[in-house]
Amino acid sequence: MFKILNQTFKTGTVTTGYPVSKADIPDSFRGRPHFDFGNWRDALPATAVCPTGAISVFDRADRRIVVVDYGLCVFCGLCAEATPEKAIQITKDFELAVEDRQELILSAEYSLSRDGSQQSLISFKHGPRPAEPAVERAGRKLKEGISKLLGRSLAIREVDAGSCNGCELEIVALNNPIYDIERFGIHFVASPRHADMLLVTGPVTRNMELALLKTYRATPEPRLVVAVGACGISGGIFGKNYASLGGVDQVVPVDVYIPGCPPRPQALLQGILVAIGKMAKALPFA
Ligand code: SF4
Repeated sequence: MFKILNQTFKTGTVTTGYPVSKADIPDSFRGRPHFDFGNWRDALPATAVCPTGAISVFDRADRRIVVVDYGLCVFCGLCAEATPEKAIQITKDFELAVEDRQELILSAEYSLSRDGSQQSLISFKHGPRPAEPAVERAGRKLKEGISKLLGRSLAIREVDAGSCNGCELEIVALNNPIYDIERFGIHFVASPRHADMLLVTGPVTRNMELALLKTYRATPEPRLVVAVGACGISGGIFGKNYASLGGVDQVVPVDVYIPGCPPRPQALLQGILVAIGKMAKALPFA
C-alpha cells in the first residue's frame, strides 16, 4: 500500500491541460496534409497514390480542377511522398472539426502547360477554417457552460456503426487519467434515452443502419450527432458499396464532423466543443 501511495505521489498529475493549454503533440504524429496550391506543379502522382480518393483531378482542355476532401483523408502521408516539389507537407494539425461537410473540401483551378503539368493557379476555394478563438476559450469554461446549457452535464452515447475500432480506442482514451473527459462534466452513458449526443464511428454498414436509426430516434431532443473519423464522415477507406452506406449523414443528420483516421482524443474533444457551441447557438435561452 505504501509503495502504491509513494508511486502515486512520485507520478503526480498526468492529466493534459488541453483545451485550456496547447496540446502536446508527439513529433511522430501525422495530422492534416497541407497543400501549397500555388507551388503545386502536378497533382496526378498524389492522386494516383491516395488510397481513399481524397484527391481528385478533373482535366478539361487547358484547365485542371484539383479537389481535396479532408473528409476522406486518412492522413497517411503518401501524397506528400509522391510530390517531389514539396507542395504537400504533413502537419500536426488535428483541430479540424466542422459543422458543415463542405468546409472539409478544398478546390483549386489551374491552367495547364503543354506537358500536362499545372502552369498557374487561377482560383482557390478554401476548406476548413481554423478553430474559432471562442471555441478554444470554451475549454476553460466548459463545465460551467455545459451546466448552463444542459442543466447538469453532457451525456454521450457512443455508437459503433461498423468501425475498425481505431476510433473506439481513441474514444476510450478520453476516459483515461491523461484526457479525463469527466472533469468537464462529460460522461458516456449506456442508453441513448439518457444521451444528449451520439458519437458515431464507422462507415455505417448496412447491418448497422437500422440500429443507428433506432438509436437516433431513441435519443431525446435537443440531440447532437457527431460523425467521427474519415469513415464516419465519408465511408473513408471503405467508401460506399454493397456493405457500407458511406458515412453517418447518409442515415441521420450530422451536426459536427471530426476528420482523422482515427482522430486523436484532443481532436474528439475539440469536435465535442464545436457541437456544444452549435447547440448553444440553436437554443435561444442558452
Ligand atoms: S494523406 Fe490524405 S490526401 Fe494524402 S494520400 Fe493519404 S489519404 Fe490521400
